[in-house]
Amino acid sequence: MNTGIVWFRRDLRLADNPALGAALDQCEKVVTLYIHDPESEAPWSPGSASRWWLQGSLGALDQSLRALGGQLSLAEGDSLAVLKALLSSTGASAVYWNRLYEPALIERDERIKAALEEGEVHVQSHNGALLLEPWQIRNGSGRPYRVFTPFWRKVNGELRAQLQSGRAPQPVPDRIPAPSKMPKSLALKHLGLSTSVSREQGLAGHWCPGEAGARALLETFVDERMLEYSAGRDIPAQQSTSRLSAALHFGECSPLQLLWVAESHAAGEPVPGLVANTEHFLRQLGWREFSHHLLFHFPETDRKPLISRFNDFEWRKPDDYAADLKAWQRGLTGIPIVDAGMRQLRQSGWMHNRVRMIAASFLCKNLLIPWQEGARWFWENLVDADLANNSMGWQWSAGSGADAAPYFRVFNPVLQSRRFDVDGSYIRRWVPELGSFPDRAVHAPWEMKKEALGPSGLLIGRDYPEPIVDLPASRRRALDVYQRI
Ligand code: FAD
Repeated sequence: MNTGIVWFRRDLRLADNPALGAALDQCEKVVTLYIHDPESEAPWSPGSASRWWLQGSLGALDQSLRALGGQLSLAEGDSLAVLKALLSSTGASAVYWNRLYEPALIERDERIKAALEEGEVHVQSHNGALLLEPWQIRNGSGRPYRVFTPFWRKVNGELRAQLQSGRAPQPVPDRIPAPSKMPKSLALKHLGLSTSVSREQGLAGHWCPGEAGARALLETFVDERMLEYSAGRDIPAQQSTSRLSAALHFGECSPLQLLWVAESHAAGEPVPGLVANTEHFLRQLGWREFSHHLLFHFPETDRKPLISRFNDFEWRKPDDYAADLKAWQRGLTGIPIVDAGMRQLRQSGWMHNRVRMIAASFLCKNLLIPWQEGARWFWENLVDADLANNSMGWQWSAGSGADAAPYFRVFNPVLQSRRFDVDGSYIRRWVPELGSFPDRAVHAPWEMKKEALGPSGLLIGRDYPEPIVDLPASRRRALDVYQRI
């Protein structure tokens, strides 16, 4: 092939990028392209935190491409129209991309593929995002899985066979043979990804988008934290997890790379517990695979319950819950662990998994607000907002999804807080007005007598809200409603 276009989407890396690798193998010249086409992703076009990440990641990708002789061409608008225009202006005859698995994007990509092939363009798509693709895994009766453990057993088995027959991550290419005349490109700042200055500054203090940032996170995790993963992954005050979720979502690293790095580390000098911790970590990648499997096979589960009897669930009505939803979003519910999580989300674009579960359970069960409202807020504010993971996480929390928390399990946020944030340091970090609170009171300040709170100088109801619901009563209300379905 003379010239080929590599259409980058959520595979913003040079290493282990099968579409890029194939184009480099098959074409003399390679044009690299990113198209900002939010309309085609509607209603799930990227939220503000994701747009901030994307902007940083595209800048980093462009720099890496330039270092190898290439350049990232940026465009916005209808993807097919942009591709056709670029094919014509560069004389390219092939387009390469890595596949996406969200229902709207599968449809879009199929349409684009058909239209390009009709014009005799060679189109090649690859798997750059998953260990195994959703259609490769079926249960004994040929159906998709709805339960995680047998799913992961099956994936592991297939994957091991593939690894034995030579599947391995690819290194960064030596060079990008770009055409002598680079195609026109929009400036990154004109791509429509910007968000408010205060939000950008807040996020920039926490993250470094791009392939190099992902590599650094992975190395720190494997060298310093992996051994403590099982013991520490539920403690929100500790940095015990990899924090690679946004990098995985945007494809700054591939799950195959993670698997290789983690397993090679564990296969080094024998260290007690390392193999078990590595397996535990890889199992989390399994949950990511599972969520993609579910969304692919049950394509309405970004909006509708997987378990259909939940269609009749008696959520509260918007007029009734609007004020409570706002309090939850702003981290002003009066339940410290929930508020800490919601403020961590708003300020840093990320929330610890344990707290995501607590905050989501509180919204769905104690407040009886539909999970879709929570999913939307997370979508807007998470740097790692991912349709498959987010939908599964919310459906799990609401009890309507695969392998979901049983309806009678209503997390008690105070017990969760006492168990996983024993000394209250996570709460104190994100809810600074509780900073000087006595240890005993920080998980449930309303339980303390006024006199006992006196020395901290803090007044509940003035400096920090009273709880917006009574926890035992709201638990009973949730159980009643859940029992009815
Ligand atoms: P680690 O513990 O280091 O795990 C490594 C990787 O495994 C993660 O980066 C992630 O890709 C994957 N993973 C871990 N846990 C899960 C899980 N429960 N489900 C699916 N994949 C998982 N994750 C997202 O990436 N995007 C979302 O939009 C998202 N929304 C969520 C909403 C709710 C209500 C809940 C309960 C969970 C959600 N999760 C989501 C899953 C999980 O909270 C995050 O993946 C995790 O906190 C990311 O931190 P980490 O990278 O340090 O995880």
